[in-house]
Amino acid sequence: MAATLIDGKALAASMREQLAASVAELKRESVVPGLAVVLVGDDPASRVYVSMKEKACAKVGIFSDEHRLPAETTQEELLALVDKLNADPRIDGILVQLPLPAHIDEDAVLTAIAPEKDVDGFHPVSVGRLVTGNPTFKSCTPYGVMKMLESIQYDLNGKEVVVIGRSNIVGKPVALMCLAENATVTICHSRTCDLAAHVRRADVVIAAVGRTEMIRGEWIKDGAVVIDVGINRQEDGRLLGDVEFEAAAARASYITPVPGGVGPMTITMLLENTVQSARQRVR
Ligand code: NAD
Repeated sequence: MAATLIDGKALAASMREQLAASVAELKRESVVPGLAVVLVGDDPASRVYVSMKEKACAKVGIFSDEHRLPAETTQEELLALVDKLNADPRIDGILVQLPLPAHIDEDAVLTAIAPEKDVDGFHPVSVGRLVTGNPTFKSCTPYGVMKMLESIQYDLNGKEVVVIGRSNIVGKPVALMCLAENATVTICHSRTCDLAAHVRRADVVIAAVGRTEMIRGEWIKDGAVVIDVGINRQEDGRLLGDVEFEAAAARASYITPVPGGVGPMTITMLLENTVQSARQRVR
């Protein structure tokens, strides 16, 4: 393997240490950052994510206010809770775990969150501010990708970035964040013709598809940076990314592993956004 690993686990751990110090400092000013986590129903994966988020909050000293609601909660009841949390001065960030049960309109709920508490960055105001290049809460996974690039002091100015995937939670926002750093960005997706040709000219490849090793190592340009957002569980329980790791690592300059790459960064960025929101409360 020629590439250097970008170790998301180590980077996340050092960021969380710094966050714990920032939280301690805020507490000296009598501000305790607070994150409300709302889970509706009992989707097993969502339950795991929510408890990981709660534990991560506790470790850095963020107050986490948990709301576990039954699957039959109505949209009105959920909107009433969001309203209450919007008005609660102890709460700096509100996270409604997705997906919501089918009878609830996700957009209506995300739009009800006050933009100044939208630490997930999914509110249309946050998205609009990202599009127009204004400061905003950045959604957590793409923000984590940007921190990983920053950790290797990668200068995106004028670079060719190829993003594979156009979801609202990863592909589109990460493309906009790279554009804001003056990269030339191409977004590839399921209808893209000749994906290989796009990937071959990329200085930075960001894969967010959800298909095991679909990005072939031989497509990677020598010296490219490869960020693999994909998490694909195999039948034997192993996790693999969207990129053919060994073959890509033989050509890349830097590459993120799966697991231990982008994954640990996502929750860290949620904590970062919550602390940032609490700082804004002080000012
Ligand atoms: P999604 O299913 O919403 O989007 C997948 C995208 O891939 C779509 O835009 C689609 O157009 C594109 N695509 C599908 N087939 C393609 C093909 N053959 N060629 C090119 N593009 C194709 O997925 P998502 O929510 O953006 O997640 C993508 C992956 O990232 C998943 O594996 C998910 O588990 C992972 N993920 C990881 C984190 C993390 O914290 N590390 C967070 C979110 C998502």
